[in-house]
Amino acid sequence: MPTNAVEILKAVYGYDAFRGPQARIIEHVIAGHNAFVLMPTGGGKSLCYQIPAIARPGMGLIVSPLLALMADQVAALRQAGVKAAALNSDLPPEERRALWSDIEAGALDLLYVAPETLLRGGVLERLGRTRLSLIAIDEAHCLSQWGHDFRPSYRQLDVLVRQFPQTPRMALTATADAPTRAEILSHLQIAEADAFIAGFDRPNIRYAIAEKDNPRAQLKDFLKRHQGESGIVYCLSKRKCEETAAWLRGEGYDALAYHAGMDKAEREANQQRFQHGEAVVMVATIAFGMGIDKPDVRFVAHIDLPGSLEAYYQETGRAGRDGLPSETLMLYGPEDVALRNRFIEESDAPDERKRTERQKLDALLGLAETAGCRRQVLLSYFGDHCEPCGNCDTCAEPPQLFDGTIAAQKALSCIYRTGERFGQAYIVDVLLGVESERITQFGHDRISTFGIGKEHDSRLWRAILRQLIALRLVDVDLAGHGGLSISSQGRDFLRDKPTLKLRVPPPRRSRRGKGGQS
Ligand code: ADP
Ligand code: ZN
Repeated sequence: MPTNAVEILKAVYGYDAFRGPQARIIEHVIAGHNAFVLMPTGGGKSLCYQIPAIARPGMGLIVSPLLALMADQVAALRQAGVKAAALNSDLPPEERRALWSDIEAGALDLLYVAPETLLRGGVLERLGRTRLSLIAIDEAHCLSQWGHDFRPSYRQLDVLVRQFPQTPRMALTATADAPTRAEILSHLQIAEADAFIAGFDRPNIRYAIAEKDNPRAQLKDFLKRHQGESGIVYCLSKRKCEETAAWLRGEGYDALAYHAGMDKAEREANQQRFQHGEAVVMVATIAFGMGIDKPDVRFVAHIDLPGSLEAYYQETGRAGRDGLPSETLMLYGPEDVALRNRFIEESDAPDERKRTERQKLDALLGLAETAGCRRQVLLSYFGDHCEPCGNCDTCAEPPQLFDGTIAAQKALSCIYRTGERFGQAYIVDVLLGVESERITQFGHDRISTFGIGKEHDSRLWRAILRQLIALRLVDVDLAGHGGLSISSQGRDFLRDKPTLKLRVPPPRRSRRGKGGQS
């Protein structure tokens, strides 16, 4: 077996060149350093630990959660002449003995093991007597307590750090937002400088995010650009899925619904039609996701706010797998923020988890309200980078900025004077001096902030309030009624009065549709 990385690449895999950051990562680990590797699925992570394990003296220990997957990898490696094996808990005793004697004789390049097996009595002790070239922890996000794939045994893998402090460690994953990333790095004691993050950019996907002001009309405009194409419309509730699909059928689209409340046969039938159909609009909740491998999904629209920036990335990422231009649109308003807040608050998760969820929501709002390139904000959340992309709404029409200091002060004091319990629409009316029945009934036509915002129109005021929410100067009430209140940062802002640049919403596209149900 060759010991040079490029030669191994050719001899074992039959490839001519490394892809993206593979060469840098492999070199780094061969030199004996730790590495955290965050790349999307299909990015080529396996090579990043297999090649150093082959190149370095000793046996590479690969911790992986999926036994079935391990078997495939082991078979493929063996075929190519690599001495690889999997330590399964269900190996027959004689095979098990033979495997251990190979391990102890130093005859293996790679040993795959599930965390549960690794932690079982005696295994670590015996491994302590062999020379390890590296330890790779695949699907490392499984150690994150707040993630969907949490595996308690992954949490105990820090024992490897203590037992083999001198052995290079690798953690690999395709899914890690900022909090999960930090958790993996600290748990496995891998330095930030050893993180390699790449491959998240999907340059053929166009991103656009807009205020939800007439969602049906906005969706209709969007779909008009995609006649004859297939795509996904994500919404939050089962009911809204059904209603939106029915409405789209009435508009002449071949629209299907997909959500967890449907019976399995119907769901599968709809998925099949989407998979093989020509111009099918799938109106779905997040239940639709796993196992979609349609390459020519041309558009993804979110008519409700997704749960997090990572969910947004994954859901929009279902567009354009074939590499051809694809378009996305997300609509959102303060009622979405209120609802998301309520989900977090009403869940029975521990406080620490709720805090993480709130941070994730904030990251998404930051993306929605950015004046810069959407793609840059999106990628930077994963620790990846790009130049301003030219293929998002803010690149295409850079938002104008204005000095929003005074406006923010007016909005905050209006929220304060009305008792910090009214929603956006009410606050905007008070700012504009609208003498509605409700306002007079509460006597808010007699307060000092009534009509102090006549220099801006209601659309700009709504944009200002959304940005104050995204900036966390204003909180949206946790009961989910949409009442606005001033956060502690908002109070600091009122006291210190720092300059605040805000964005002017881009001009509205011309629009005809009616029926603004949300
Ligand atoms: P991941 O683990 O990141 O999901 P894999 O390691 O399974 O990705 O790689 C995905 C596919 O890309 C595999 O078929 C693999 O053989 C292939 N691949 C990886 N690196 C290269 C490369 N440098 N050149 C060509 N194909 C590659
Ligand atoms: Zn851009």
